[in-house]
Amino acid sequence: MNLFVLFSLINGITATLFGVFVFLKNRKDLLNKTFFLMSLGVAIWSFGYCKWLLVEEREIALFWSRALNFGATLIPIFYLHWVLGLLNLAEKKKQPLIAGYLMTFIFLCFSFTPYYIKSVKPILSFPHWPQAGPLYICFLFLGYLGLVGYGFYQLFKNRKTAPRERRAQIDYVILGTILGFGGGATNFPLMFGVSLLPPIGQPLVALYVLFLALAVLRYHLFEIKVILTELLVGIMGVVLVVLPFLMPTPNLKILTLAVFLLFLIFGYYLVNATHKEEGRREEAERMAVQERALRLRTERLTRARDQFILSSQHYFRTPLTSIIGFLEMVLDESYGKLPEKVKEKLGLTSRSVLELRKRIEESLDISQFQIRKGKGILSLEEVRVEDLIKNVIEELKPQAKEKNLYLEVSFPENPLPKMKLDKKRMFMVFVNLIDNGIKHTLKGGIKLFLEYLKDKNSILFSVKDTGIGIPKEELPFIGQMPFERGRKAKELTPLGKGIGLYLSRLVVEAHGGKLWAESEGIGKGSVFYIELPVK
Ligand code: ADP
Repeated sequence: MNLFVLFSLINGITATLFGVFVFLKNRKDLLNKTFFLMSLGVAIWSFGYCKWLLVEEREIALFWSRALNFGATLIPIFYLHWVLGLLNLAEKKKQPLIAGYLMTFIFLCFSFTPYYIKSVKPILSFPHWPQAGPLYICFLFLGYLGLVGYGFYQLFKNRKTAPRERRAQIDYVILGTILGFGGGATNFPLMFGVSLLPPIGQPLVALYVLFLALAVLRYHLFEIKVILTELLVGIMGVVLVVLPFLMPTPNLKILTLAVFLLFLIFGYYLVNATHKEEGRREEAERMAVQERALRLRTERLTRARDQFILSSQHYFRTPLTSIIGFLEMVLDESYGKLPEKVKEKLGLTSRSVLELRKRIEESLDISQFQIRKGKGILSLEEVRVEDLIKNVIEELKPQAKEKNLYLEVSFPENPLPKMKLDKKRMFMVFVNLIDNGIKHTLKGGIKLFLEYLKDKNSILFSVKDTGIGIPKEELPFIGQMPFERGRKAKELTPLGKGIGLYLSRLVVEAHGGKLWAESEGIGKGSVFYIELPVK
């Protein structure tokens, strides 16, 4: 019997202290308020239980048994409200909550009448165990089973979709609920005169408080980790300071006093360490918030910059198109005959304007590929690569001929599979590679190879020239960055820009392919490869 008194006393004290601390920490938060009220219910129940066990007279025992059940009646509704608050459902589930409060109110109104607690009678070693009245049966089904069961159901339902750390928190609450309410339920059979189980409600409720405390400790349910540590150290301290007085021999007194002193040192360090850790945690949280804000700001700025780049290039291109159109018409003499000198100069102007448009288009393409990573830029169509290469050769033949260079192509015996390519852009890529070969070759020529790699289901295109070659140390940088140009190439083609290869690589990669160069070194020619998957 004494053990029950002790447990109920401990529960009453813990529930009161814990509830008050939580409430003081944040009086406005729903979670803190409902937890406080739930703890109040537990405290009334526990202190009532303690008092009820200690009284001898039947009538007084009946009063205290009703008082303890008054407390017990409060627990389910506040528990449900707290759980719904924890799951962010308090607003959404207003109706069940209102029904629960109404129901609890009715039970409370009758809690000191025989409708709720009929009488007390001796059972097991308890001289005055309360006996359930008809309304109490309603409380058991609607309040205890109904409200707690509903809260429990919501905990399980939301556990599945909750983020990982929230799930662990819910697990603690679920465990606490099973222990607390499961333990509490062992008191009920005795209320109907059935003594199957010992009433282990009070000891188990102590564990319920402990599990909720664990939820707090690990996941800052109420952010009172520090207060809780102080509380536990305080309770232990009180127990330990009393112990020496209770010890029968001087030796034991000294020993327990030493334990108390040691505990004081340990407690001091523990509280201190928790303070520091909490400080560090808060600092880390603050930093994380700042970091997030900074990241969002950077993302916004990047988006604004990209948008600016994309739109400004369109902005330049539009007037150019009309200039080119008018120039063409003037050059075609649609507006009257032109003097030869003017025609010649206008022809040069027209070429420069076309070059300008090409450069703007190239840089627009580069920005688009860089910013959108190639997504949604390509306009794919079914292409026969052999035909595409033939067209490219037709375009470049005059240039090769002008420099007295051969331009040969070797197609595979079997026709290549048709491919889905951005025809215009791949045409530009092939032109670029072959044109580079012509530009960087003084004698000899350029050979093109086209083959199907069966094992990789891809095609390999290569351009082999007998030109200036590329030194080993420059190879890794070729086509990797815009404006990247070889030393030797700068001498040979001072007007080059180092854009074409970079853009070609972006286009090939947007097709899921690869572009790379090989060379034995200066004066030994180069080979440029493109591998494109056949999808
Ligand atoms: P550009 O030809 O305008 O310089 P590219 O982007 O087409 O720009 O080429 C970048 C650089 O790659 C060239 O400056 C040159 O150093 C090197 N390169 C490209 N093709 C060849 C080639 N066939 N032989 C030797 N070097 C080459």
